[in-house]
Amino acid sequence: MKLSTKVLFQECYGKYALPAVNVFTLEQVMAVFHAADKEDSPVIIQTTPVARDYSHPKVLLEMIESAGKIYPNVVYAIHLDHGIESHIYDALESGKYTSVMIDASHDDFETNINRTHKVVLAAHQKGIPVEAELGVLSGVEDDEKVEGDKARFTNPKEVVEFVNSTGCDSLAIAVGTSHGAYKFTGDQGINFEILAEIQKRLPGFPLVLHGGSSVNPLEINTINKFGGELETGCRGVSDSELQRAIAYGVCKVNIATDLRVLWTRIHRSFFHLQPKEFDPLIPGREYQKQASEMLSEKFELLGASQKGKQIRELIYTSEYN
Ligand SMILES: [Zn+2]
Repeated sequence: MKLSTKVLFQECYGKYALPAVNVFTLEQVMAVFHAADKEDSPVIIQTTPVARDYSHPKVLLEMIESAGKIYPNVVYAIHLDHGIESHIYDALESGKYTSVMIDASHDDFETNINRTHKVVLAAHQKGIPVEAELGVLSGVEDDEKVEGDKARFTNPKEVVEFVNSTGCDSLAIAVGTSHGAYKFTGDQGINFEILAEIQKRLPGFPLVLHGGSSVNPLEINTINKFGGELETGCRGVSDSELQRAIAYGVCKVNIATDLRVLWTRIHRSFFHLQPKEFDPLIPGREYQKQASEMLSEKFELLGASQKGKQIRELIYTSEYN
């Protein structure tokens, strides 16, 4: 059951957060749907522009919709992550997306407002909600890298003007998380002071946390044991921080890095331990299985497990119908 993120956010605000999983491959698409079905968790499946263009935009979208037919109970939204105008208008035209993001966060405040507002007008004409971003996360997203010194927290004093001027439906904020495998060192983490200030100014408004992976150090160590050279000593967002953020209006938590790290660990270790193998299906099957298990844990952690039924009933009986 494909739905708008607007409905999903109204249901989850303050109670649980929706996992928003970035997908690139068939194995990931199947793992997301398998886990969402097993947990009866609503889920946001998202594609970055680079993911869409990896083969052809149609292929990834058709794959997602096919999985949606194989698992008809799964409540899901398809979201365009980190869009720029050309991708967004293309996504709106496709009729496949039920949510889009405009990321003009690297521009100055006024330009961000103007670009976001234009996208909101076009998307709302088609009934599609828009996620916007204020503040800059560090790290690597898609093919763009932001150095730590260019990153900046969302300024709570700007959020009300930004939301009112743009008409956006949810807001991605920078409160300490970052993109990629190298998030926090030492005691760093989510800045709850800033998050609380933002929520105070935007009560009831859905907030989005990018860079929500936990980046398990054990996985990184195993990758390095089998020939990888990933940086050690870093961690992602802790489970307790993610759970705590829900009460502050975080409705959507983006998860991308953890699935990539898992892919690398499974494939590096498999081909190292079984050097005579060259069949991609063997580690591919294992990846689907373990990715599904990992996502099941995430859905439970965010409190989204077993929430699909409520949403299906709501759709069958309410004004959304
Ligand atoms: Zn992001």
